[in-house]
Amino acid sequence: MVERPAAGTHATELMQAADTTLYWAKADGKARWTLFDPERNAHRMTRQTLSNTLRPAVEREEFDLQYQPLVGLGDGVVRGVEALVRWRHPQFGTLAPNRFIGLAEETGAIVPLGRWVLATACRQARRWQLDHPDEPLVVSVNVAVRQVWDSDLVADVAGILAETGLPASLLQLELTESAVMGSAGRPLQQLQALSDMGVAIAIDDFGTGYSNLAYLSRLPVSTLKLDGSFVHGFRAEEHPNPADETIVEALVQLAHRLGLTVTAECVESAEQAERLGRIGCDTGQGWFYSRPVPADRISALLSTGVRP
Ligand code: C2E
Ligand code: MG
Ligand code: MG
Repeated sequence: MVERPAAGTHATELMQAADTTLYWAKADGKARWTLFDPERNAHRMTRQTLSNTLRPAVEREEFDLQYQPLVGLGDGVVRGVEALVRWRHPQFGTLAPNRFIGLAEETGAIVPLGRWVLATACRQARRWQLDHPDEPLVVSVNVAVRQVWDSDLVADVAGILAETGLPASLLQLELTESAVMGSAGRPLQQLQALSDMGVAIAIDDFGTGYSNLAYLSRLPVSTLKLDGSFVHGFRAEEHPNPADETIVEALVQLAHRLGLTVTAECVESAEQAERLGRIGCDTGQGWFYSRPVPADRISALLSTGVRP
């Protein structure tokens, strides 16, 4: 029902708006009423546009990678970098991954996009290796669950390593806990094959899911990346949360006993870095060390040997 004067609207737009609103009402559940919300509509249209243009954007290479250092908590040495994708959208400007990774997973565009990310990160890591042979730098690449299920990740990784010349030992793949939970059959075989190749497997955002260490320790996983929410409790001199520190300390000890290394995400202050180091975390990542930066900033960091 159109109950208000709709300023500057054509009949077709009005019909469309009514249609959209009807759809929302239905989607929200039976016997509901809903008002047209221009913001919700804009959001929907943007999602739709982004979703439709993802695949061609991969072909046009509208994406680029930023890299964020992974730093040894004991010695401050840069051990590796995480590759984080950005979309240089011709219309909407630079988009963070939370705007499009979910869509790419829904549409399956994550498969070609993920392949591009992997190839670009490995090519860059090989360049760092050749330029700085004495400072081995691991590149850590995020992998979405669909890449494990819907594509031949093992063949892609093997092909890209051969093509770029990057040793497998300088590549780490980050998967979330939910991506590997219940993995049996093919996905587990893929993880095993990657691990046998010498590629490291890390569990991203650890602590947000089941946190089933007993289960994870049976998978070919070498690193846990502790979710930022754990580290937040370390922040405040104002309100330190001793429970957080106790939990993280116990987690780190258990992980070490199971042969896993631990990286803390979202390290934002010197104090957090110091306390995480004290309780045995191996590496840290976060704004305290560096924001995600373009590849040439990492090169500069390696050339000067300056700690980030
Ligand atoms: P993630 O893998 O957990 O990456 C870490 C995120 O935390 C990054 O957000 C990074 O910018 C942010 N971060 C780093 N240090 C700090 C800090 O000190 N404080 C706070 N508050 N945040 C910090 P970003 O770049 O927006 O990426 C978001 C997520 O998108 C990533 O989370 C990852 O799950 C996903 N993603 C990024 N690139 C890719 C990709 O190439 N493929 C796939 N499948 N997912 C990706
Ligand atoms: Mg990650
Ligand atoms: Mg993470």
